[in-house]
Amino acid sequence: MITIKSEREIELLRIAGNIVYQTHQYLKGFLKEGITTKQLDKLAEDFIRSKGATPSFKGYEGFPAALCTSINQEVVHGIPDDRKLKNGDIISIDIGACYKGYHGDSAWTYKVGSIDERKEYLMYHTEKSLYEGLRQVRPGNRIGDIGYAIEQYAKKHHLGVVKELVGHGVGTSVHEDPEVPNYGHPHTGPLLREGMVLAVEPMLTLGSPEICILDNDWTIETYDNSPSAHFEHTIVVTKDGYEILTGEWKDGKK
Ligand code: MG
Ligand code: MG
Repeated sequence: MITIKSEREIELLRIAGNIVYQTHQYLKGFLKEGITTKQLDKLAEDFIRSKGATPSFKGYEGFPAALCTSINQEVVHGIPDDRKLKNGDIISIDIGACYKGYHGDSAWTYKVGSIDERKEYLMYHTEKSLYEGLRQVRPGNRIGDIGYAIEQYAKKHHLGVVKELVGHGVGTSVHEDPEVPNYGHPHTGPLLREGMVLAVEPMLTLGSPEICILDNDWTIETYDNSPSAHFEHTIVVTKDGYEILTGEWKDGKK
């Protein structure tokens, strides 16, 4: 069931989203060679809790950590551990925070030190594809318009679109209806209405978009070991477009 959020709910989603944004900004300062993903996870969890929120992913279907940390060929759901970040790595950090029962969800891919041109290209165009998708968000358009825009942009830049993993609604659960695929056909799928809250999250690859799951039953990586990037914002559909909930607040307010 797709829910339309009230103004009061959107206000709580805005706070949750902003805590996720602030956690990303905070972690960026620690993304250096030698830090482990487990250390990042601890920093993030402490930060989220200091803001009066809880990490959405910890315990979600048994996930053991606050962050998903996916390095290089890992696409999503990497489990923080004792591996150290290395110069030339890219790391996708997915953060969820729950404030007074409402969630925010945002993933971003970062570089560690200096990375090769191909990884730069992948990161740049995956982020762009997110905004291409978001440009389609307004009442009257449909979910398929978002996925179509992302897929066309990825194709034009010769990047693979992971199809098994999709965006989603966000509210009192971190994953709600509808599914928001990163592919699709124009004018198809559920109608976008003011007050719908969605996580749009393209996951693109430099090589084949085929994926496999590791034997920890969580981490998903590319089958051909090519690097993957992931950019995600939680947004609310407004009267004439969208507002990003997991972005920066200007002057203390959206
Ligand atoms: Mg996420
Ligand atoms: Mg998500």
